[in-house]
Amino acid sequence: MLYQTLILGAGAAGMMCARYSGPSTLVIDHARNPGEKIRISGGGRCNFTNMYAEAKNFLSANPHFCKSALARYTQWDFIELMDQHGIAWHEKTLGQLFCDGSAKQVVAMLAGELQRAGAEMWLQTSVISVTRVEQGFSVALDRDGTPQTVTCRNLVLATGGKSIPKMGSTGLAYDIARKFEVPVIDTRPGLVPFTFAEDRFKPLAGIALPSRLSNARTSFDEALLFTHRGLSGPAVLQLSSYWREGEAISVNLIPELPLYELLRDQRQAEGRRDLTTEMARLLPGRLVDHLAKELDLRGRLADQSDIALQNLCNQLSNWQLTPSGTEGYRTAEVTLGGIDTGALSSKTMEAKSVPGLYVIGEAVDVTGWLGGFNFQWAWSSGHAAGTAIADSC
Ligand SMILES: Cc1cc2nc3c(=O)[nH]c(=O)nc-3n(C[C@H](O)[C@H](O)[C@H](O)COP(=O)(O)OP(=O)(O)OC[C@H]3O[C@@H](n4cnc5c(N)ncnc54)[C@H](O)[C@@H]3O)c2cc1C
Repeated sequence: MLYQTLILGAGAAGMMCARYSGPSTLVIDHARNPGEKIRISGGGRCNFTNMYAEAKNFLSANPHFCKSALARYTQWDFIELMDQHGIAWHEKTLGQLFCDGSAKQVVAMLAGELQRAGAEMWLQTSVISVTRVEQGFSVALDRDGTPQTVTCRNLVLATGGKSIPKMGSTGLAYDIARKFEVPVIDTRPGLVPFTFAEDRFKPLAGIALPSRLSNARTSFDEALLFTHRGLSGPAVLQLSSYWREGEAISVNLIPELPLYELLRDQRQAEGRRDLTTEMARLLPGRLVDHLAKELDLRGRLADQSDIALQNLCNQLSNWQLTPSGTEGYRTAEVTLGGIDTGALSSKTMEAKSVPGLYVIGEAVDVTGWLGGFNFQWAWSSGHAAGTAIADSC
């Protein structure tokens, strides 16, 4: 079978690419349904983009690489597409845009757009082998039990990263890239909860509070959530992408609370009150119980000197913790690293050394923060490759 363009992966980036790549496009995916990660994203409401998306919200060995694609297909372009399809949305926080209704609307919109563009989609189809031939590439497929061979001029790798293997993530794009000697930067899980030894925070599971999480590289002011296995919540997921095995992190439990002033005032007004009783009026009670043991907090407010209160606030604003690890690809929202941007054109996403081979979406070494940035990269990189392919036909 002969196609102009074969796109491997009917996820966010693959479907977007097919919308633009012109005639004779086939998209294949081994899953039963397209866009499964879109369907489950954002708690089922899909955080489909971010109003403030720009290059600084992405991690990559080359922080400039994403700029071209992001500039040519922006968050406003995707918002316009949503509006054209009458899909209602709202800003939740920090520019994060979510569907009012189900994320399935976004999947249906992209599948509809793909169909309207005249592209074909084969589901439950896996890749057996990819070889270079005179016309481009020859790809042996298993289409729901039936062997098929497709020859194509353009081959687009849009199979995502390794995150959540249960959802069908395979790392196929990395294997194909290596086969063609396109370099791959080591991958690791990103946007992932931290784990701690010996169920350290188990008694605190379920507590959430505003926090500032930092390490030597960066800092995030967002919610922190204690879990049975360790720490999660937006602040933790964000910092995890900047964390390396064995490093300590700093947790500020009182980023917005003028605790020193409040405790000093209360020492004047309610000196007979226990320090921990007063703290439990300002912070979650179970957390205060835990801190009381860990930091040996005792005595009445009147017993606390200014220096003691200042030391306490310093400890709460710079709680040094060393995660034993992360929950890994099992729960990570994204994969850091991936196909080396140095080997790709930032304008077209085409591999410089393999004409006709394109890489888009999460498979590329471009990873967004939490907050709709990863889908924006999928839309923008898919659009870049799709339009470049259409222009080359
Ligand atoms: C739980 C969760 C929630 C998320 N929420 C958000 C969010 O709200 N906002 C946001 O911006 N980002 C979110 N993300 C990240 C986002 O889903 C990804 O960054 C994005 O889907 C990447 O798009 P992609 O097209 O590159 O890959 P994917 O969407 O993963 O698509 C890859 C496709 O390739 C197929 N595939 C894989 N291997 C093979 C193979 N060997 N053969 C055939 N087909 C294959 C898969 O079945 C899949 O359909 C979330 C991720 C997770 C896991």
